[in-house]
Amino acid sequence: MTKAKKLSAKQKAFRAVLIFLSCLFFLFAFCCTGKRIARLYGVGGVLDFADSAVVGLFGDCKATDEVTALKQKTGGILKGVCHPAQYGTKEILETAHIEWVRIDAYQSFDIYEEDGSYSPLFAYTLSTLQYHQSQGSKVLLVFSANMREAYYQYGYDIRTEEGTKAIQKAAKDFILEVRDYVGAVQVANECDVARFSAPFTIEECAKFIGVVMETFYEYKKDVVIGYNGTPINLIGLTECLQPWMRYCDWVGIDAYLGCFEPLSKSLSLVDGIVRGVWNAAHKPVIITEYGYMSSGEPKTKAEKEAVLKEYGFHSVQDAKNNIWKLIEQLPITFQERIASGVIAYSSDKELADTLFSGEHEKHLFRELESGYYVTGYEHTPEGQADFLRDSIEIFKKYDVVCGAFIYSMVDAASCYYCGFDDCPLETGWGLLNADGTPKPSYYAIQKAFADWND
Ligand SMILES: [Zn+2]
Repeated sequence: MTKAKKLSAKQKAFRAVLIFLSCLFFLFAFCCTGKRIARLYGVGGVLDFADSAVVGLFGDCKATDEVTALKQKTGGILKGVCHPAQYGTKEILETAHIEWVRIDAYQSFDIYEEDGSYSPLFAYTLSTLQYHQSQGSKVLLVFSANMREAYYQYGYDIRTEEGTKAIQKAAKDFILEVRDYVGAVQVANECDVARFSAPFTIEECAKFIGVVMETFYEYKKDVVIGYNGTPINLIGLTECLQPWMRYCDWVGIDAYLGCFEPLSKSLSLVDGIVRGVWNAAHKPVIITEYGYMSSGEPKTKAEKEAVLKEYGFHSVQDAKNNIWKLIEQLPITFQERIASGVIAYSSDKELADTLFSGEHEKHLFRELESGYYVTGYEHTPEGQADFLRDSIEIFKKYDVVCGAFIYSMVDAASCYYCGFDDCPLETGWGLLNADGTPKPSYYAIQKAFADWND
């Protein structure tokens, strides 16, 4: 060994520190660049969850007093289903240990007529609540499920002082009317998803949720109040909600791994999501929507050409050049979506490009693109059953997870977004087939819920 290479203990320590700092720097640079690239592709939220999950790994997920208090008020774990529909009969629900149903209020604003009687839609909401109560089900009710509607249909605008006061008044009217029929109320729905929140920013949505939760707080009795979001940016929404968190009893997660994006390939991401949300909110967690498509696969080029041929076109370009000839042949639901302005466009070309890209193109061709799956779970009735069973095993590991609402009770006869009856995207989510007969997922839930106790 030469003299030049001999290092003192001090120098060795200094070198080790330098190497350590360099590694940290490169790791930091890698993460920042990686995140920036990811954000460009719209997957930043997933990475935020990954970040928080890592932090969460070092914290614990032990139940706090708030978790215990929530379970006391709700009578234990919330085992529920979304959209109970006509087949949500007492026997079908009870056999599968489904004690809760989650429904949207049909009307959340302007619930009284001028003479003080209930508006027809709110009267219908109340009778639905009474029906579920008579069936022995507990209800998680969604107030103002659609921020767009609150603004465009009823004119309630959280951005103005006058609008905020009107929202407070509407929230008070609402909670006083429903509190004897429901066990839980959710304020707004998935405000971190632009489709549901536009024209409001995430900060404005948070203010809306916060103001409503604060109003509910005084009148809610034992009803537990919360809000929800998706892995897209529930953590960001939660950060914006910090001034109002003391009025919040729970935070809801809506997740559809392997169905709407091609990134979440591993079921263990569920652990990351739960830990991330707990770490960000430190509030009892309820899985407010959770499911897996039981059908759907990519279509071949020839199959897509056959779809175009049905409409009288020989290519995508041909269809784009005659976009209104295509639109007039679409189901009325799809046409109304275009007419309502939900699909924004300023020229026929822009409309054609929008329809033949992203989500809309999948509805047009009635396909689930390749790459949309969680490893080990096919989009089949059996795959859906296995997915739900294994997911609930994960939820059960966490004391802070107070329940889950499966999306949904029954397969839809047609896709609510596009109206096609053979579109797999919004039809195969049920525990029951469209005719009311149980699917494998029903039996999976029956078993999983039976074994899920406090
Ligand atoms: Zn569809």
